[in-house]
Amino acid sequence: MPALLDTISPAVPKIDPRFCCFCLKVDRSKIEGWGVYADEVIPARRKVIEYTGERISRRERKRREDGKYMFSLDSYWTVDGSVRGSGAEFINHSCEANLESRIVKGHILYVSLRRIRNGEELTVDYNFDSTDETVPCHCGSTMCRGTINHE
Ligand SMILES: [Zn+2]
Repeated sequence: MPALLDTISPAVPKIDPRFCCFCLKVDRSKIEGWGVYADEVIPARRKVIEYTGERISRRERKRREDGKYMFSLDSYWTVDGSVRGSGAEFINHSCEANLESRIVKGHILYVSLRRIRNGEELTVDYNFDSTDETVPCHCGSTMCRGTINHE
């Protein structure tokens, strides 16, 4: 990449090692914007990273309606990953994800669904439903639904 472009590109976001169980790194993604990549092999069914951020109420979420990194904990609480996020907020959606999210005692944990190769991009199914805003999907999977939303 030319030096000029390099100097104007934004800083690479950081992963907070306190919330990961494996070596991960952030890099450009073919899916969208930044992506998170395994920097070592990750076995199946292991906790990979916790999705952290500011915990906000339903009313506050409405106020931040343009927020990009919102994870609904339940019908009342949302975690806003743009505030004190661990880096998990940069994990892209895929219709054929290699991680799944589990909510354990109010914590959002991303767990590997299968063995993940060193250098593979981490993905999770955002599981938007038909009541959420329709978002086209570019995950590139042969199983792609065409939208991030489920029917
Ligand atoms: Zn897709």
